[in-house]
Amino acid sequence: MDKFELQRLRDLPIEGVAERLGLQVSRHKCLCPFHDDHHASMSFSVRRNTYRCFACGAHGGPIDLAMELLPSRGGREGSPFLDACRWLADENCVILTEYKPKEKKHEVKPFDAQRYARYFEYPWLSPDACKFLFEKRQLHPAVVRYCRLNSFRDWLQIPYYNQQGELIGIQRRYMGNDPEQPRFRFPQGSECSIYNLPVLNLLKPGETLFITEGCSDCWAMLSSGHKAIAIPSATLLKPKDAELLETLNLKLSTQFAMYPDNDAPGERLFLQLQEVLPNLEHHHLPPGCKDYSELYLKEIKQ
Ligand SMILES: [Zn+2]
Repeated sequence: MDKFELQRLRDLPIEGVAERLGLQVSRHKCLCPFHDDHHASMSFSVRRNTYRCFACGAHGGPIDLAMELLPSRGGREGSPFLDACRWLADENCVILTEYKPKEKKHEVKPFDAQRYARYFEYPWLSPDACKFLFEKRQLHPAVVRYCRLNSFRDWLQIPYYNQQGELIGIQRRYMGNDPEQPRFRFPQGSECSIYNLPVLNLLKPGETLFITEGCSDCWAMLSSGHKAIAIPSATLLKPKDAELLETLNLKLSTQFAMYPDNDAPGERLFLQLQEVLPNLEHHHLPPGCKDYSELYLKEIKQ
C-alpha cells in the first residue's frame, strides 16, 4: 500500500464511512458509539473529514473510525490498521496493490431492512434523479412511483422486494460525475437477484411476463405497459428463483418473453434462460437498438 492509496482511504467521505459502519448520521451528527450516548454528541466535519465526540473526546478520520468499530476479525494477520484499510478498500472499490484477497470470506451480515425502510416510505427524488428518469429515460411517473425509486446523495436507490412485498435488498446506481465511483453498489447483505418480484402477484393466467437484463430495461418495459421482471446482468438465476419462475409457468401458464440485448452476452443470456424456461419467446430488437430502453425511447418519440 503506498502513500496515494492511503490518502485515498483517508479521503473517503467520513459520514459515508460512518454509515457503512452502522452509525445513523443525521445533520452531521450521530450517537457516539464510544460512550453511552443519548444526545448525538458525535459530530462530523465534512471539510476536515473527521469525527469528534464532544462528550468523551473520541476523534479521528475514516481509518480510525473503521479501526475502532469493525468487529475484530481475530485473524492471524492481527493488524487492526491493515484490517481497517482492507475493509475500507473493499467497501469502496479502492484497489490496493498490497491487497491479497483472503481465502476465507468474512461473514456477511444479513440485510437490515428496517434500517433502510424509511427511505422508501415517502420516496424523494433529487433534481438529477428526476432528470435521469423522466427526461433521459422518459419513464412513466406511475412506474417510478410504483418502483419506489428514490435519491440518496448522488445515488439512485432501487429497492428490491420479494413476492410478499418485503424489502430484501437495495441497489444503488451512481449518478454523479466522479469517475472514481463504481456504477453500482449494494448495501451489505442485499439480496438482489430478481427485480420487481411483486409484479408476479398481478399476473393473470396466460399473460406474458417480460424478462429484462437489469432494472433500466425493466422500467422501460413497465412504462410501455408490459409486466416485467429483471434479472441481474450476465448472472445465472439462483435455483430457487428458477424454480419460482417454473412454478408460475405451471400454475398460470405464464408466457415468458425477452428482448435480448443486441450483442453476444445478450444472446447467451437468452439461451441460458431458455434452458430453465423452455417457452421463453425471443423478440428481436430492430437494428440500431442495443437494448430495450433504446427501442422504448425510439417508439415514444414517434
Ligand atoms: Zn463519545
